[in-house]
Amino acid sequence: MSTFQAPKGTYDLIPPNSAKYLAVREAIAAPLKNSGYGYIETPGFEDVALFARGVGESTDIVSKEMYAFETKGGDQLALRPEGTASVLRAALEANLHKAGSLPVKLWYSGSYYRYERPQKGRYRHFSQVGAEAIGAEDPALDAELIILADQAYRALGLRQFRILLNSLGCRECRPVYRDALQGFLRGLDLDEDTRARIELNPLRILDDKRADVQKQLVGAPLLRDYLCEACRTYHGEVRGLLGAAGVVYEDDEKLVRGLDYYTRTTFEFVHDGLGSQSAVGGGGRYDGLSEMIGGPALPSVGWALGVDRTVLALEAEGVELDIPAATSVFAVPIGDEARRVLFGVVTELRRAGVAADFSYGGKGLKAAMKAANRSGARYAIVAGERDLADGKVQLKDMESGEQGPVALDAVVEALSSRVLG
Ligand code: ATP
Ligand code: MG
Repeated sequence: MSTFQAPKGTYDLIPPNSAKYLAVREAIAAPLKNSGYGYIETPGFEDVALFARGVGESTDIVSKEMYAFETKGGDQLALRPEGTASVLRAALEANLHKAGSLPVKLWYSGSYYRYERPQKGRYRHFSQVGAEAIGAEDPALDAELIILADQAYRALGLRQFRILLNSLGCRECRPVYRDALQGFLRGLDLDEDTRARIELNPLRILDDKRADVQKQLVGAPLLRDYLCEACRTYHGEVRGLLGAAGVVYEDDEKLVRGLDYYTRTTFEFVHDGLGSQSAVGGGGRYDGLSEMIGGPALPSVGWALGVDRTVLALEAEGVELDIPAATSVFAVPIGDEARRVLFGVVTELRRAGVAADFSYGGKGLKAAMKAANRSGARYAIVAGERDLADGKVQLKDMESGEQGPVALDAVVEALSSRVLG
């Protein structure tokens, strides 16, 4: 222990567990890379106003959870709480929407920061992999993103997740619904904070987790009944395409999600093994966001999947990821001459693409073999002065325990063909 610990609400990714996080990020990214999405990386902080405008002043994310600060130079910045506003800002700044044909399809992976009450599955620093398809209004695009997330989770071996789907309407029909909902909510017995929310962000009240609130919400007007013809048709198309792709989803009229910028399609991936932090990912269409941050009209859709919660979901289901051993060959030299020779062999093995490691620090045979065992390597090569004098090394199969001499000048070849096939 040092004097310091990871800050509250954060944790370190440490081997061997950290390999799972890498595997999850790669598994989520793979279907995106395979579907025309290009990699984008944006700064960890942005002008605070980007999030205030883009995510929404009245959202929890902006009003309660944001790490906002002033720099020595007087700039008002915030650690990014989510990815979409930054990605859209970057795409507009680089004029990607003018450079080629639309949609611009991008994926990202990184750290996000929210000042939340820490608990299992809810951290102040967490990581997401996300995807955005910018500048096209096409139900096939909404369907594509949901299908790709489903494919990623399935490839990881997750089974107990569900897809919740809803439409939030558009700027034509949502205001009409908002009015009706406000009328209904004003008649309820709600605390002061929630009453204030009726005027600011009434849809979010539908998402209130408290049982006494949920009880009163029975009979609330449903957005489904207020969707305009265009929104209804659009949503029907998305549902049809998902069905045709064999993706199972549930209609959830109360799914509103925490960000102001969503329009039409919204969806969430929930996992039943996670308790109250059940959302592993979510997203939707955000047709108005570009204009909200000063850009042209660019109807877009995207999602972000939480890496931390996906790892927890895998653990909850008992899924073991197929993570190949980090080391295939471990070299154990006995004596100085053997150290120089085997270090050369390890270097050659690595150059040949074989994952190899070495017993450092002049350990004795017993301690070195223990290190070889721990490394998970399938093969150990052991050599002392006598072996080298004979031009040989001992090759041990750690799985079967079999051991035998191999000519020193043939060992790289022998191991490469065994490990790489
Ligand atoms: P919740 O309702 O649980 O607060 P959210 O709606 O705020 O989630 P999003 O903004 O949609 O979450 O982010 C997408 C995903 O990122 C979530 O589904 C979750 O997996 C992950 N995520 C969000 N906030 C956190 C956090 N504080 N800690 C860990 N993961 C998080
Ligand atoms: Mg949240």
